Amino acid sequence: ASHSERDAAPLPRRRTVGVSVGGVMVGADAPVVVQSMTNTDTADADSTVAQVAALARAGSEIVRITVDRDESAAAVPHIRERLERLGIFVPLVGDFHYIGHKLLADHPACAEALAKYRINPGNVGFKDKKDRQFVQIVEMAIRYDKPVRIGVNWGSLDQELLTRLMDENQRLPRPLSARAVTREAIIQSALLSAALAEETGLSRDKIILSAKVSQVQDLIAVYRDLSARTDHALHLGLTEAGMGTKGIVASSAAMGILLQEGIGDTIRVSLTPEPGGDRTREVQVAQELLQVMGFRQFVPVVAACPGCGRTTSTVFQELAEAIQSDLRKNMPLWREKYPGVEALNVAVMGCIVNGPGESKHADIGISLPGTGETPAAPVFVDGKKVATLRGPSIAADFQVMVADYIER
Ligand code: SF4
Repeated sequence: ASHSERDAAPLPRRRTVGVSVGGVMVGADAPVVVQSMTNTDTADADSTVAQVAALARAGSEIVRITVDRDESAAAVPHIRERLERLGIFVPLVGDFHYIGHKLLADHPACAEALAKYRINPGNVGFKDKKDRQFVQIVEMAIRYDKPVRIGVNWGSLDQELLTRLMDENQRLPRPLSARAVTREAIIQSALLSAALAEETGLSRDKIILSAKVSQVQDLIAVYRDLSARTDHALHLGLTEAGMGTKGIVASSAAMGILLQEGIGDTIRVSLTPEPGGDRTREVQVAQELLQVMGFRQFVPVVAACPGCGRTTSTVFQELAEAIQSDLRKNMPLWREKYPGVEALNVAVMGCIVNGPGESKHADIGISLPGTGETPAAPVFVDGKKVATLRGPSIAADFQVMVADYIER
């Protein structure tokens, strides 16, 4: 069998219309953008500024905040201003439900401070008010020259549209399953809303679509279909992904497959934080997903073996962990000082079986001694053995060598 580069590459990205979100390009040729959302009460400006700052510092390139009432809308311009005083210019997206049209009209400073408005077509209004209120938000976007995301979510799907499609389905000779009709309603809600936004006068390069569901297979089916039916930029995300490893695995499985097929221009990993958990985890997971798939490079790669019965001590796990967190912590500084540093590969290996081999493939690698081996740890730089570390300071010595390598 012959193996070409194409065998080990994703399908070409689907061509979408690029949208600038406060200067961050989403779609067209731009790299897939990482975004996240706060879980603070936006009216509490102190907590919101702190969380947006943390998310931005962790690498979120766009941050969404909820704007649910007058007090939150009034806080938005102050949040923007305070972030800028901290040197943080990450675009802020306002998440609107039910009364977005009213909040944007009553709070012009909020409308101006936001870089994008998220509209949920399922709850922008009901019956005869629905289209009018949707159009009002779109008109605000046109007035303030902002893009919108038309974000359909199956938990708040347009019930009128769903009922109509269910009725039509019943009249078909071979009706589809209720689940398939729901998927179609989600897609149609996004497409019909985008068409209405365009009829209102919003240009195509101001519209991003999303159609979030909570099951992996549904998400894949919905986005495949949606991307075949439109060239609007797409925001990917699995809604209600869940807590801990379940949320991470479900989001990675669903989005990984879609990204591999060239679908998706920006991603959000929605994780339910553990009590007291760190909100920035979702940014880290999104970055790691894009990085392991080879789409983007955010932090140097640390290849660490899983460890096994041949691993002698906890030095190995501790070292791998310390190197990883050191790199992550220093990245913002290093990225400025040493362009390209994120392409670095570091290996931390537990014994002689794969240690020297893997370490030689890395830019810098260490092979720690396993059970029964001489207590010495050879270090390889650019494929050549340059040192052998011994004694209790192996970990600290290797950390210094990594820092030296980066500086050189
Ligand atoms: Fe085990 Fe050695 Fe393989 Fe690590 S490199 S998993 S310690 S055999």
